[in-house]
Amino acid sequence: MELKMPKKALVTGAAGFLGSHLCRRLLDEGYEVTALDNLFTGTKDNILSLFENRRFSFVLHDVTQPFWGQFDEIYNLACPASPIHYQHNPVETLKASVLGMMNMLDLALKTKARLLHTSTSEIYGDPLVHPQVETYWGNVNTIGVRSCYDEGKRCAETLAADYRREYGVDVRMVRIFNTYGPNMHPKDGRVISNFIMQALSNDDITLFGDGLQTRSFQYCDDLIEAIRRYMALPLETVDAFCAKCGLGAPVINVGNPGEYTVKQLAEEILRQMPESRSKLVYRPMPQDDPKRRKPDITLAKELLGWEPKIPLNEGLAKTIAYFRNLVAG
Ligand code: NAD
Ligand code: UDP
Repeated sequence: MELKMPKKALVTGAAGFLGSHLCRRLLDEGYEVTALDNLFTGTKDNILSLFENRRFSFVLHDVTQPFWGQFDEIYNLACPASPIHYQHNPVETLKASVLGMMNMLDLALKTKARLLHTSTSEIYGDPLVHPQVETYWGNVNTIGVRSCYDEGKRCAETLAADYRREYGVDVRMVRIFNTYGPNMHPKDGRVISNFIMQALSNDDITLFGDGLQTRSFQYCDDLIEAIRRYMALPLETVDAFCAKCGLGAPVINVGNPGEYTVKQLAEEILRQMPESRSKLVYRPMPQDDPKRRKPDITLAKELLGWEPKIPLNEGLAKTIAYFRNLVAG
């Protein structure tokens, strides 16, 4: 009888919001999963239930330091993602993106692992092209308070493109647009967790600026599905796609094109939480906050046969239920 060994995956940033969902999905698919995190914004609570699985292990490690191990697939998610967190220690944020990416690329190179990197819609900055297509180079301030994140992620893309061109590393990148769902930290500071937590505690709902800036919100399960489809593609398919669309590296937008103002988001959350006594209040707009954001997902549809399935009202209902349980203890 032939013994089939499980595929081995390394997930950096595994104790965070998205990392925890990805680890669960990989375990469900039969992978052996090594979860790496320095617990800066992530928490072991997100992955506690995964420890029951013998194919799951956790390493407390900072991705800015080299890491060694033999894996079939590497998923690089380690980086604070919320503006308040990535601006808390901007130099560490840059290091997590740039040194972290170099360490993971070196590991992929030495071990011939396939690598997926989580880039971001922030690489487009405050975009002048709408909706954002992958060929758009962006409009980014190099020296503002958001630059540590935006430029770090841009540099990580450059590293990935060059390791692919120069050394043939099998790297794939997703530019993730605002993604939300259970396991977001209640004090994460991003708009959906903020508004739900404010509504649950009857605090003011803080709209920054006039609340008319837009975002496109994607439920976490849709993103994880896209990531898994992408990593399952043979290298030849990805190379052919890359040559056809003329991008310097295989990079695709992954998001939900439904576009909402921040005010519409607040109103939908309050509609789903009629018991809340919260009121909308206006606060100053943070520096360099992008005014409009919406992904063009033509390439993801074509390459992955994927599109998001979960509309905002449905995803919000699941997320509100999660935070309700959390607060109820
Ligand atoms: P998160 O803050 O919940 O998770 C990030 C994880 O990385 C945390 O567990 C944190 O402790 C860990 N981490 C941070 N610095 C580290 C370091 N130096 N070494 C090891 N671990 C480190 O954020 P998330 O929303 O789950 O984001 C995951 C990834 O996806 C990030 O790279 C982020 O930039 C990217 N992304 C997320 C979104 C989104 O809307 N959620 C959008 C675009 C891109
Ligand atoms: N935002 C807001 N109130 C909050 C938190 C965020 O109005 O309490 C706004 C923020 O200014 C931005 C949008 O919501 O325009 C999304 O912010 P988030 O921090 O979630 O993500 P990002 O700005 O990185 O897209």
